[in-house]
Amino acid sequence: MIPEKEILQFSSPQRAMVFEALNEAEERTTGYYCIPPFRWEQLHYDLLTRQDQGWEPLPEPMLARVRLLTGSGIREAFDFYRIELNDHSILTAAERENLIHASDLYPFLVYILTHEMVHLVRLSTILHEQAGITAPCNETEEHRVQDISRQILSGYSDLLPRLDKFCSPGFDRKSLTDDSNKSPKIN
Ligand SMILES: [Zn+2]
Repeated sequence: MIPEKEILQFSSPQRAMVFEALNEAEERTTGYYCIPPFRWEQLHYDLLTRQDQGWEPLPEPMLARVRLLTGSGIREAFDFYRIELNDHSILTAAERENLIHASDLYPFLVYILTHEMVHLVRLSTILHEQAGITAPCNETEEHRVQDISRQILSGYSDLLPRLDKFCSPGFDRKSLTDDSNKSPKIN
């Protein structure tokens, strides 16, 4: 009998780290765009990992995605953004790239979440997309998001050289294994 492949899921400390990384990604992104708190508060979003109710399987080996969804409130429907992380792909990539220890996993999570946060801001303010769709994954948009994410994370001088290998178009959507032999496209 072929043993079933284990599906990896964030442990409690790893999940706590996800939300810590989310805070940092949010602070850095709103700072970059100079979004005032009152405007940011109007933008509703949540973040789900595998253990959350409502989490939907992401196509492997996608690391993360952001979607615009419509929720039903007491009085009226409202739009909100949902960032979904793929625990399994992230942990598999982290193990393979030797980023699994907390001191390395944290910046990796900040890197992933900053990328998704930039997608979110662009979706909400620039692209005006329709509910129910994922962020556009065309190459031009991905390049734009990567460029902005790198500027946002430029203070992370010791982090970027290690994580730039993930910076190829659609790094959250494609196999990191497939991409690992390609040179990162950094200008
Ligand atoms: Zn992306």
